[in-house]
Amino acid sequence: MTLKYDYDLFTIGAGSGGVRASRIAASFGARVAVAEERYYGGTCVNVGCVPKKMFVHASHFSEDFEDAAGFGWSVGQRDFNWQTLVKNKDAEILRLNGVYNQLLDAAGVVSFNGRATIVDEHTVHVNGQNVTAEYILIAVGGWPWMPDHSGMEHVITSNEVFHLKEFPQRILVAGGGYIATEFAGIFNGLGAETIQIYRSELFLRGFDEEIRLALADEMRKKGVDLRFNSPNIQRVDKSNGELVATLADGSTIRADQVLFATGRQPLTKNLGLENVNVALNQKGAIVVDEYSQTSTPNIYAVGDVTDRMNLTPVALAEGTAVANTLFNNNPTAPDYAHIPTAIFSQPSIGTVGLLEDEARAKYGDKIDLYRSKFRSLKHTITGRDEQTLMKLVVHAETDKVLGVHMLGPEAGEIIQGFAVALRAGATKAIFDSTIGIHPTLAEEFVTMRTKAT
Ligand code: FAD
Repeated sequence: MTLKYDYDLFTIGAGSGGVRASRIAASFGARVAVAEERYYGGTCVNVGCVPKKMFVHASHFSEDFEDAAGFGWSVGQRDFNWQTLVKNKDAEILRLNGVYNQLLDAAGVVSFNGRATIVDEHTVHVNGQNVTAEYILIAVGGWPWMPDHSGMEHVITSNEVFHLKEFPQRILVAGGGYIATEFAGIFNGLGAETIQIYRSELFLRGFDEEIRLALADEMRKKGVDLRFNSPNIQRVDKSNGELVATLADGSTIRADQVLFATGRQPLTKNLGLENVNVALNQKGAIVVDEYSQTSTPNIYAVGDVTDRMNLTPVALAEGTAVANTLFNNNPTAPDYAHIPTAIFSQPSIGTVGLLEDEARAKYGDKIDLYRSKFRSLKHTITGRDEQTLMKLVVHAETDKVLGVHMLGPEAGEIIQGFAVALRAGATKAIFDSTIGIHPTLAEEFVTMRTKAT
């Protein structure tokens, strides 16, 4: 480390990756500064994982109230107040913003509240001044992408959906990714008439196909109007206080809000990247090597701006790895194997390891599949026809469990533990010799004995 520069590390963006890298770097003795232009904690805390999960919790109550009847409860008048939910969510997020700020302070990281741009390889411009650093870390995240159609000023993205003044009684969700699907579930659960349109055959590309199909069934049973192979929205007009979306085939859908969840793009524009030799890929994401180093050796990038695996825990791992590489004499490349993920749809999806299709493409017929589809104990009493689906993908020769996939309640909570087993190289025999916890859904994963065809 050298005193030639104001700081050893200047991080642009105090989101998941930037905060983590800055704190850990400071803990190794580096002099660190971070710039944040919008909100401490970044997307996840402010307009992503955290408020989204709160909304998911909120939306479950409608079913819980209904299900209570089978267990003997009479639930009286139900009344949902959107403003209360938003207010309580905002209060918690304000608290979390403070926590992130304090974490940086306590670690000795200097915070600049403002937009930073890159001037040259060692200089950043922020709040009217130039600041120099030996290393620059770009952790600016991503931003919702929308097609450029007429009337897009009337629609919202995931950035605005958390702050709507009024609850939309009718909502049209455009998109087939996890964010669109989660919001369709949220608004449906909260009582909105919900239509989700997606231009391809089936949503949630990249997840297990049977599970995607089963989720579509379950969402329809719950009342979401799912429309696949839908023509794209071509324009949105506002008339008489409602929105009218016109699709490519000329048909129209009327709604109080139109939510576009049609993808995200890296926030690399107007960052001053033209002043340094940092290569971008076709999607505008920063190209990095396994150590998150860009094509300019002293500039690193982590998180969504690199478009590797756009998840908070991955951004955290990348941030930690950069701090170790630069300031702990320990070059570290994050390990992307067996990263578990969840979709907080209703019911939820949890997944880790290879999909059935991927495993078959890789190992041909050396794959054993175990599948279980059933109605949970709870729903034998509620009468709700909700199916849970679980799948194990196993290598027939090595007996290694390659993938664990689930559609059902608390799938994320369940799959997190199985991710540890997969990373440890667990075999099907180890799964089989593990005693279940009874009665749970998760025990099914250690009691599947019959191979599926
Ligand atoms: P971010 O968290 O986006 O942080 C970037 C920060 O940089 C921002 O605070 C921004 O204001 C700041 N910034 C940008 N440019 C500048 C500049 N020039 N100067 C100063 N500051 C700047 N992930 C999960 O793991 N689980 C989930 O359930 C989940 N749900 C999600 C739901 C939604 C609706 C969305 C949108 C995302 C969700 N994600 C989820 C993804 C997760 O939020 C991101 O992967 C994660 O936030 C990426 O972290 P990051 O550090 O790369 O960027």
